[in-house]
Amino acid sequence: MKAAEGVQRVALEALVHGACVMKRWMMLVTAIPLAVAGCGGGDAGESATTVRVERPSFNADRAFQDLERQVAFGPRIPGSAGHAEQLEWLETELRSLAHTVFLQPFEHVTVDGNELALTNVIARFGPADGSRLLLLTHWDTRPKADQSSDEADRELPVTGANDGASGTAVLMELARMFNEQPPPGGVEFLFSDGEDYGPSTTDMFLGARHYIAGVGSENPPAYGILLDMVGDADPSFPVEAYSMEGAGQVVQRIWGIAAGLGYRRFFPMDQTSRVLDDHVRFIEAGIPVVNIIDFDYGPGHGFWHTPRDVVENTSAQTLFMVGDVVAEVVYRNR
Ligand SMILES: [Zn+2]
Repeated sequence: MKAAEGVQRVALEALVHGACVMKRWMMLVTAIPLAVAGCGGGDAGESATTVRVERPSFNADRAFQDLERQVAFGPRIPGSAGHAEQLEWLETELRSLAHTVFLQPFEHVTVDGNELALTNVIARFGPADGSRLLLLTHWDTRPKADQSSDEADRELPVTGANDGASGTAVLMELARMFNEQPPPGGVEFLFSDGEDYGPSTTDMFLGARHYIAGVGSENPPAYGILLDMVGDADPSFPVEAYSMEGAGQVVQRIWGIAAGLGYRRFFPMDQTSRVLDDHVRFIEAGIPVVNIIDFDYGPGHGFWHTPRDVVENTSAQTLFMVGDVVAEVVYRNR
């Protein structure tokens, strides 16, 4: 078992290193005026041609620094200092990158009577009109490490290096890429709050519910991709079953693109997980959203919702792989 894990890790390093040094080229079919096509030596009757457009590379080091930065804020539990610092960072950073940024503050009273002040952060890139793709992740962290095998640890907060910081780090780096090279279609980012409060599911997925009740019902995105737990140093992203049932075509597209980029072994189509997460609320509302999630974190999934969800158990290479796949989906989205 150990040896197999080691082989897999080496293989990912080789793959990612190869991808880092290789420029990603996109083949974009662009309408070209006849006169311009003629200048390029095209046929007189040509009305369109194929041009090569380079898309920016995903900067894994910068993304990993963002993961570390979030962890340094401390736990991002609603009401905590770390939560407030993270919100300020998200807003400031996104305002320097996106043409439209707005906050959705809202309140929630938990089943225990706690009043939570929560905020979704939304940013938009690309054309303002037409259909848009939604990319989402949660930015809050679990208040208690309730999955710890050691009972004494179950009252500790979760650091959330993977469960919280990883998806946010990947989206923030994608935002920098979209700022550098605008995506061909509209893209909206949702950093959802209150996904992981719990322990009752009544007190989870709060930001997704709030978004769906407002923006999501007034002007729903065409489809969406949720990133959650995308930083495991030993990655595997099997197809998530709710996603397959509610957004099968989008799953086929994403996993096909991952295979085309050389990540087939990390995005197996023949294995599934089933995870209740923000995307299920979207699917219930008729918006197809796929969850890219590695729900096998540590031996026996033993790092999830425990004090072992720390930076040392995450990897810049995994952030790169996921960012590379999502960027390819976005820049091919014509
Ligand atoms: Zn969680």
